[in-house]
Amino acid sequence: MKFVSTNNKAQAVSFKDALSNGLAEDGGLYVPQKINKLKQEYLDELDSMSFVEIGEGIAKPFIGEEIPSEVLSKIVNETLSFEIPLIGLSDNISVLELFHGPTMAFKDVGARFMARCLSYFTKDKDRDTTVLVATSGDTGSAVAHGFYGVEGIKVVILYPKGKVSEFQERQMTTLGKNITTLEVDGTFDDCQRMVKAAFKEDGITENIALTSANSINIARLIPQMFYYFIAYQQRSKEDLVFSVPSGNYGNLTAGLMAKKLGLPIKKFVASSNVNEIVPDYLKTGEFSPKDSIQTISNAMDVGNPSNFARMMYLYDGSLEQISKDVEGCSFNDADTRNIIWKVWDNYNYVMDPHGAIGYLGLIQSLESFDDMKNTQGIFLETAHPSKFREVVEPVLEEKISYPEDFEMDSGPKLSIPLKNDMEQLKEILIS
Ligand SMILES: *Cc1c(COP(=O)(O)O)cnc(C)c1O
Repeated sequence: MKFVSTNNKAQAVSFKDALSNGLAEDGGLYVPQKINKLKQEYLDELDSMSFVEIGEGIAKPFIGEEIPSEVLSKIVNETLSFEIPLIGLSDNISVLELFHGPTMAFKDVGARFMARCLSYFTKDKDRDTTVLVATSGDTGSAVAHGFYGVEGIKVVILYPKGKVSEFQERQMTTLGKNITTLEVDGTFDDCQRMVKAAFKEDGITENIALTSANSINIARLIPQMFYYFIAYQQRSKEDLVFSVPSGNYGNLTAGLMAKKLGLPIKKFVASSNVNEIVPDYLKTGEFSPKDSIQTISNAMDVGNPSNFARMMYLYDGSLEQISKDVEGCSFNDADTRNIIWKVWDNYNYVMDPHGAIGYLGLIQSLESFDDMKNTQGIFLETAHPSKFREVVEPVLEEKISYPEDFEMDSGPKLSIPLKNDMEQLKEILIS
């Protein structure tokens, strides 16, 4: 399959180029030129497939012959080397747990897949590829772990000083080796702006092979489609509604792509914190990026969500079209804390602040259904609650534990302080 820019549908590139460039030359994001529906047999057989077979079937049409089948199979296998269970809370509400990977957030899936694809394509290169990434917390740790020790690849991570949890910071700044972390005096949006600028700045891409591992990279989105199919396989009812706690809208975009592939999903809920740029668009038809507001669901504190351009591409820029599939809603920190308590009290289930927003969006959406007999609402639980214990423990007034097999990153913090300006970043990149 070929990939085109959201700004220019004429120039198509290969998967390898879309992966390596990160961002298209014209500043747009890469999108699949055309998403064909999967064969009906694939969907019919889905129930008896393993996770890896599911993943291969989805990845194959996007990657074609660019990666040999046996290599792709290995990549998918290593990407999905942990469980993704769908857990019922009530008759109509289930939670898809995406946090069983090494950094306990869904971003492990995208990062692991991308690292392995990139490593395949760069294996014969004589110079290293630098992966540049901005993070509001979870991307950085997932990318750091996904790429750690991968040959031929250097990783440079920008994160906003004081705006990620101590735990997230530890997970990315203590690794060293091929992982460099930069603690930026600014917000996540500043970090993201600098990453985008680095691709255009004179003297950088001329000197080093640069790519990005943000959710703007199409190689992150492809594996994120997998888990909608994995949830579908575990469904207990006919009609599925997915509520996706969203920030940069990578997860939601992957869901919309899964639907284009033919997965029968009735509705998506774009569940947001008070950075309600996309819900506002769905209400008013106006897309107005703003400075991000800090919340307790900090991985979703995004004021200018990149993947909005892809969402528009998938629906030909039509509010009317996208509104048939997606509804938006937003919630504040007090709502989030309340519902964490309530769900724990009702179902004995501990949500993290991001999943909690997903739950709230789901409940709100299901309220509009007259008859829910055949409807199963699924919210994505995007991180393990112990990752956000500073928020969750005071709400529950109880300690929560890490998963059994979890090992905390130890060692000194190795990050370098970075001013909110391009000169210093450029120096570090080309040094
Ligand atoms: C990144 C992240 C999100 C938001 O996902 P997007 O794909 O950027 O919308 C939600 N929850 C957690 C825990 C995250 O790390």
